Amino acid sequence: MTVLDDLLGLLDAAPKLRGARCVGRSEMFDPPPPGSPPAAQVEHAAAAVAVCHGCPALTACRAWWDELARAERPAGVVAGQVSEPGPAERRKARADLHQALDAALCADPTVTNVDHARRIGCHVGTVANARRALETAGRIPHVIRKSGRPRKTLQQNGIPA
Ligand code: SF4
Repeated sequence: MTVLDDLLGLLDAAPKLRGARCVGRSEMFDPPPPGSPPAAQVEHAAAAVAVCHGCPALTACRAWWDELARAERPAGVVAGQVSEPGPAERRKARADLHQALDAALCADPTVTNVDHARRIGCHVGTVANARRALETAGRIPHVIRKSGRPRKTLQQNGIPA
């Protein structure tokens, strides 16, 4: 159960917010998975915002939202608007992205940074940094150079490892 599920359980229990259209649809209102392409993120949020605008509890939900302290506001779509994640959510999103990058790079280090960035939906520099960290830690070989073309290893260049 997500934070938004908990929150919406409370909202649904409140008499003024009966009929909330988000109940049981947390995957639609929660932030999209980390690394989703920007266009998919916009589409994801727009669908939830549209549901809010047809929700009989919108006015009461917005009033409730306005009273919340910034740190208490959940990330995702609430009361017909996109709520930016707080520091804790941002930290989690970053950790999830790095976990996804590490898994992708370890699974196939020969895929270029550009292709990994396209697949995961992040900046190519983020992939490059993650790759450098994995190479330094010895978790993947040094096989790709910045241009994306395969680089000879030290041994292939005649230098003993
Ligand atoms: S306005 Fe949106 S977030 Fe608020 S109760 Fe309705 S569907 Fe849920």
